[in-house]
Amino acid sequence: MSKVFNTQLKREMNYPYEDAKPKKQITYVFDTNKCIACQTCTVACKTTWTSGKGEETIFFNNVETKPYGGYPQKWDVNTLKELKDQQWDSNGVYKGQTVFEETAAGERVNGWRPTERNYAYPNIGEDEVLGTLDKGAFFSGIHNVWMFYLARICNHCSYPACLAACPRKAIYKREEDGIVLIDQSRCRGYKECVKACPYKKTFYNMVTRVSEKCIGCYPLIEKGEQPRCVTTCIGKIRMQGFMEDTKAPRKDNPIDMIVRIRQLALPLYPQFGTQPNVYYVPPIHVPKDFLYQMFGPGVDKAIEIYRNMKDDRELLAAFLLFGNTPKIIHSYRAEENFAVGYNERGDEVVRVPYSEPVFMRPHWDETHQTYRHNTP
Ligand code: SF4
Ligand code: SF4
Repeated sequence: MSKVFNTQLKREMNYPYEDAKPKKQITYVFDTNKCIACQTCTVACKTTWTSGKGEETIFFNNVETKPYGGYPQKWDVNTLKELKDQQWDSNGVYKGQTVFEETAAGERVNGWRPTERNYAYPNIGEDEVLGTLDKGAFFSGIHNVWMFYLARICNHCSYPACLAACPRKAIYKREEDGIVLIDQSRCRGYKECVKACPYKKTFYNMVTRVSEKCIGCYPLIEKGEQPRCVTTCIGKIRMQGFMEDTKAPRKDNPIDMIVRIRQLALPLYPQFGTQPNVYYVPPIHVPKDFLYQMFGPGVDKAIEIYRNMKDDRELLAAFLLFGNTPKIIHSYRAEENFAVGYNERGDEVVRVPYSEPVFMRPHWDETHQTYRHNTP
């Protein structure tokens, strides 16, 4: 075991390999407040990558309703149980154990292997709320029942548990962009990665008898375009870009601005210790204890920043870029009336106004010599 520094836990931890940072790290931001669980992302991903034999139950992207939903079922509850105590101190340093530290003798990662039943009912818990309403209750303006939608993909972790557990060294992290891939010619289908990934984002294909996982749409990334799940998102909840956690955050990188400078988006279950690279804006209506467990100690600050974003022009500009271009945005600028995004070469790829313009058509149309009726 080596010692590596986990920036999300703010402490060193054990990991089976030496630290090897990619040149840049693929990173995503998902705003949970905007997801409507339309599953467009799920279908876009499935039809692109996993429509073959043996891939029927493989969902590189899925969207589940919390608190009861999950695919595979109980993926998070079972890992949380393995970790037992998960405390953070007042400085935001994680004091509990990670999946690399609570291991049984001879195991590199503390994991669990889902059964076929865990994959059998992807819709259980969908749209189910937590909380009860008494008879005669009416809407009072405050949510006393709650649920939210959690969109999930592989996190292309900085310390991947799947990679750590693979006895064939078939899993690797690309130096150029940090995407985590399985070399299927090396894989022998031992399913150690399926057991180890705390997010359960590697899948065993029973027909090919090797494992598969999200490939970060790398053919698109190599062309400077964002992945399918990002560009097809109806709710515009997603943005993909890059971070370099060995360098100081750049104020002109929208991902750095959202994640590292304002700390508005948080990792999913950082206590697992893999340093995941999908960051979530937490839902603002959910009980805090649930959110602390899911996103760590930064929840209060993130929600306060989210509520006040309209007064923070630089952050707002970064947010306006969500879902408005298929191109990867490497830098951006907050102009007086527009948020402007640029590609890696510095060419402008998107320009979004702060306020949507409103056009009022005159009642009398001079050109067509007719009256118009603006329907509301
Ligand atoms: S496409 Fe977007 S809004 Fe629809 S379920 Fe996926 S993440 Fe949510
Ligand atoms: S989310 Fe799971 S499959 Fe993806 S890199 Fe992390 S440990 Fe590996």
